[in-house]
Amino acid sequence: MYQAVIGLECHVQLDTSSKLFCRCRVTDGAPANTHVCPVCLGHPGTLPVANARAVELGVRAALALSSTLHRISVFARKQYFYPDLPKGYQISQYEEPLATGGRLHVEVDGERRAFGITRIHLEEDSGKSVHGERVTGVDFNRAGTPLIEIVSEPELRKPREAEAFLRMLHRVLVEAGVTRGDLEKGHFRCDANVSVHRPGEPWGAKVEIKNVNSFRYVARALAFEIGRQERLLESGGTVVQETRSWRGARTASSRVKEGSADYRYFPDPDLPPLQVDEALCQQARSALPGIPLDLWLQARDAREGDAFRERHQLDDDTAGVLLRHSEVRAFFEATVVAGGDGVQMAKWITGEVLRRINEGEDLADARISPEALVALEGLIQDGTLSRSMARDVFGELWTHGGEPRAIAERRGLRQVTDDWLLRDLVRDIVARHPRQVERYRAGNERMVGFFMGKVMKATGGRADPALASRLVVEALRRV
Ligand code: ADP
Ligand code: MG
Ligand code: ZN
Repeated sequence: MYQAVIGLECHVQLDTSSKLFCRCRVTDGAPANTHVCPVCLGHPGTLPVANARAVELGVRAALALSSTLHRISVFARKQYFYPDLPKGYQISQYEEPLATGGRLHVEVDGERRAFGITRIHLEEDSGKSVHGERVTGVDFNRAGTPLIEIVSEPELRKPREAEAFLRMLHRVLVEAGVTRGDLEKGHFRCDANVSVHRPGEPWGAKVEIKNVNSFRYVARALAFEIGRQERLLESGGTVVQETRSWRGARTASSRVKEGSADYRYFPDPDLPPLQVDEALCQQARSALPGIPLDLWLQARDAREGDAFRERHQLDDDTAGVLLRHSEVRAFFEATVVAGGDGVQMAKWITGEVLRRINEGEDLADARISPEALVALEGLIQDGTLSRSMARDVFGELWTHGGEPRAIAERRGLRQVTDDWLLRDLVRDIVARHPRQVERYRAGNERMVGFFMGKVMKATGGRADPALASRLVVEALRRV
């Protein structure tokens, strides 16, 4: 048995209009190298000047995460060579970061947990390598874009916890206005560190997984990596400290990671210590509610959850399931808007819809419309279809779409609900099976099932089951 240890490092793009140390605009998709200047290109003799708006957003993040803000922090040079890093170093913070400590409250599988934050520091982004067919170019538009890095304590133990942590961190920072949080545009990037060890033994070497671009994939990549490390140790191997990247179904080694000593950090002589004054703190504070934002969001969720449950008259479990899956909830609400009964629609959705999603299908790819589901339930209510017939139709609606009544007609699905017709049929069947009737009269109640089977067979499964069983019992008693 192994125990996993997980720690996260998130790079978050601050929502500023200009870069961290110069007045170039922060752009997205502009032609390469059109938003650059001697400062962000690292020409000798230029002087960086810290962007007050970026500092304020960093302070906001610290306050929102109950982190201890340091009134004085220090910018440091992190040296490494890379083509997209024109200065040969990145300006970051190291020994004296903007903030340390803090925690994030997260709900994991219905349970409330708190995970520690180690530090929050300001840093600039690098440029980007652009790979063409025959050459690789460098675009420095992104160089100098303001980021904060948020490092978690190694307190997470499960991939699901890491996923929930990231989702909540993202929500908090977007809600606080710290970042626009567009994942596709790289506003929120996460590296996940993970190691495994046997309980009671020292922790193992950690592997850093880079460039995972969705929360769900972070959990998948971690689960894969935990399995890989366990198998490696189990077969007598050792885990080496390295950086790996997620390749869609597995992680692959990308480089052996430098220790911090290799970066030769030292305080940047071009920048004075960063002082956060009271006015700036006040400004940051006024953008936030008085309580930690994660708790505030959880309280808002709970309030909305109550209202949702009451509005649709759902029980706790059903409402909880719908609220946990935002796209499923949206589909549910659309069925209600389309005239569906909340309780009936919730049954379909927590049953047939979620079953398919749990099997790996995607609601976004499903062809069923909310209106069709409402119409399908209508066919049950008016007696046209039995539940099991409706489930058949549902299957077709899911994969091909269409109109429930038309599908039912094409497939010849129609319940036999005609009293007289069924009654005659039942009488006839009973008359033809005297020995089974005998056994029923001798006290064998299970014979009802035998006759029901005959009725269903004779009607091709189309008899209304409630009606048929009532008629069978009536007929047996009367013989
Ligand atoms: P580095 O200098 O290699 O970046 P840090 O000490 O800054 O290492 O830690 C980076 C991240 O890795 C943090 O989120 C931390 O919680 C996590 N971490 C540290 N040690 C371990 C470990 N043994 N297993 C898993 N995660 C770890
Ligand atoms: Mg680190
Ligand atoms: Zn610039």
